[in-house]
Amino acid sequence: MNVLLIGSGGREHALAWALANSPLLSTLYAAPGNAGIGEVATLVSLDADDHAAVIGFCREKQIDLVVVGPEAPLVAGLVDDLEAAGIKAFGPSKAAAQLEGSKAFTKGVCDEADIPTAGYGRFDRKEDALAYIREKGAPIVVKADGLAAGKGVVVAMSEEDALEAVEACFDGSFGEAGAEVVIEEFMEGEEASFFVIVDGTTPLPLATAQDHKRAFDGDTGPNTGGMGAYSPAPVMSEDMIERTMREIIEPTVATMAKRGTPFKGVLYAGLMITTDGPKLIEYNTRFGDPECQVMMLRLKDDILTLMLASAEGSLNKVSARWHDDVALTVVMAAKGYPGAYEKGTNISGLAEASSDADVEVFHAGTKASDGKILSNGGRVLNITARGKTVREARDRAYAAVEKVDWPDGFCRSDIGWRAIERES
Ligand code: AMP
Repeated sequence: MNVLLIGSGGREHALAWALANSPLLSTLYAAPGNAGIGEVATLVSLDADDHAAVIGFCREKQIDLVVVGPEAPLVAGLVDDLEAAGIKAFGPSKAAAQLEGSKAFTKGVCDEADIPTAGYGRFDRKEDALAYIREKGAPIVVKADGLAAGKGVVVAMSEEDALEAVEACFDGSFGEAGAEVVIEEFMEGEEASFFVIVDGTTPLPLATAQDHKRAFDGDTGPNTGGMGAYSPAPVMSEDMIERTMREIIEPTVATMAKRGTPFKGVLYAGLMITTDGPKLIEYNTRFGDPECQVMMLRLKDDILTLMLASAEGSLNKVSARWHDDVALTVVMAAKGYPGAYEKGTNISGLAEASSDADVEVFHAGTKASDGKILSNGGRVLNITARGKTVREARDRAYAAVEKVDWPDGFCRSDIGWRAIERES
């Protein structure tokens, strides 16, 4: 099979690495990819926003499956246009990607299917939103409705912060994403990520993971796209997984199918594990980044077979089995991230860092230039390792981090701390 992978981050490098190991694969293309992806795929400079150009490329290269990594092309309807042109694609339609693209849409699905989630109100008038907060009090959570790159959520511990967040939404701080706000009850518990692959009707559980969103040690500092992750998530016991499937995932998949907008692709549930059981915080409609990196290290079965079964509606005929090992990834980011940072700084030592057979170095934001590897983004490398325990995986990952020579980068030193505390 010829496969075209859309995206350029660490998630896509991990997918490319797993796809490259598939017995079904002939040629792997990636658009635009990065320096690491370029080691296992042919890079092409296609603009994912130009659907006609993507379709033209697929016809020319006889692409059998397009794998869409990030959310933006899904929400923009790339999968719909590919399918209309007779080209198979892995990922949801534009209508189904609303599970990620609109928080209000997801809340509507939760209401319809009686899915456990935070109580909420949605408002397109500022005064109504402010009144609702004054009525409910703090702590309370304010969310801009649309895609705001993870920045549209304020967990307000005081009423004042909540009122300010509403003002910011309606002042246009989040652009179009803030034209409507969702205000939610504050849920207490431990967060976990749960991934399933879906073919329109059948959800097949994949794996669990936990990530670290804050920039600095001790889970402090500004929110980021994710500074590290590990899989599995110890809080996701067999019982919790079974409840999540029954109470959250299955009703969601059934509701989307009943509405005539069946969900296909990866459904990523952000969960709060409360004393009452799992509750849905939000859905994403693609693999997490950096959760995908740790999951690919643990996957025993062929990723391409799974993706094809999702696209073709035959997930009931395949399996997704996982190594018992733990995998953990440490994100190395450019100094200054998530604020302003420099691009084009020199990175070396990557071959040494990946010399351990239990370590994979995934590139998140790099480019190759004159035989050198240069940084090309905020999150730049994902140093990913497996081990029998979280502690062992963590020690391997940090030993590899030590071998990377990149004076302009930084990473957290405590990835996995919560799970390691549980182990000891
Ligand atoms: P979201 O973009 O919806 O995933 O929210 C980002 C983060 O805000 C989540 O990962 C949680 O840590 C936190 N959060 C969101 N909604 C709630 C809620 N209702 N209660 C408590 N924390 C929340």
